[in-house]
Amino acid sequence: MAGDLKDGETLVLKVNDRELSVRLSEHARARRVSLRVDPIKGCVVLVKPRRTSKRAAIAFAIDKADWIAARIAELVPPIPFSHGVEVPILGDPHIIHHHPDARRGVWREAGALNVSGTGDHLSRRVHDWFKGEARKVISPIAHNYADTLGKTIAAISLRDTRSRWGSCTSDGRLSFSWRLMMTPINVVHYVVAHEVSHLCELNHSARFWKTVDQLIEDRRPPTAWLKEHGGDLHRYGLDDWKSEP
Ligand SMILES: [Zn+2]
Repeated sequence: MAGDLKDGETLVLKVNDRELSVRLSEHARARRVSLRVDPIKGCVVLVKPRRTSKRAAIAFAIDKADWIAARIAELVPPIPFSHGVEVPILGDPHIIHHHPDARRGVWREAGALNVSGTGDHLSRRVHDWFKGEARKVISPIAHNYADTLGKTIAAISLRDTRSRWGSCTSDGRLSFSWRLMMTPINVVHYVVAHEVSHLCELNHSARFWKTVDQLIEDRRPPTAWLKEHGGDLHRYGLDDWKSEP
């Protein structure tokens, strides 16, 4: 029955000796069954309208098995925050090291990111650590740039935005992705300079870019870095914790 379908249920389709995983997603407003790729979650999603039966959706997917197999082959898997996994901290690789008996929270030492406590909270602790460190690194840089421009920042928040690394509102509220804590420091400087410059110019005019160039030396290398590597950062720590605001 379509009514008892849980959103995000993973289906394994068996087609000609192949096993293809697709995530089934029910959309009230979808008009027809369709397939799409979720590059961040690293899966193919089978979208179906509520009134369409699961069987009809599966038949649709089986018909498109070659397309699904090709998309799955292209996907890069997510990287969970777990013991032994390598994560970049300000561009430098660190290995996550779980210390179940330690009572020190999370601490960074000699190429390791050490995490105390039980394993089931490890991912959330690493996430919280990244978010906290991102604030510690970004805040002073942002206030320093704002001072240079003679502007005041109303608030700084750290989020997990997929589509952009930072934003700025007309009332001076800046928001940044905590994943900037994974990028090299020149990238942090560029994104912060970019958002702080929006305190002067809420657009991307020539005047805006002149303001950015006043704050940082060369925005081309960090821009190129983000274009090449930025998307990969969203693979880290996904789905292990929920309730990201
Ligand atoms: Zn901008």
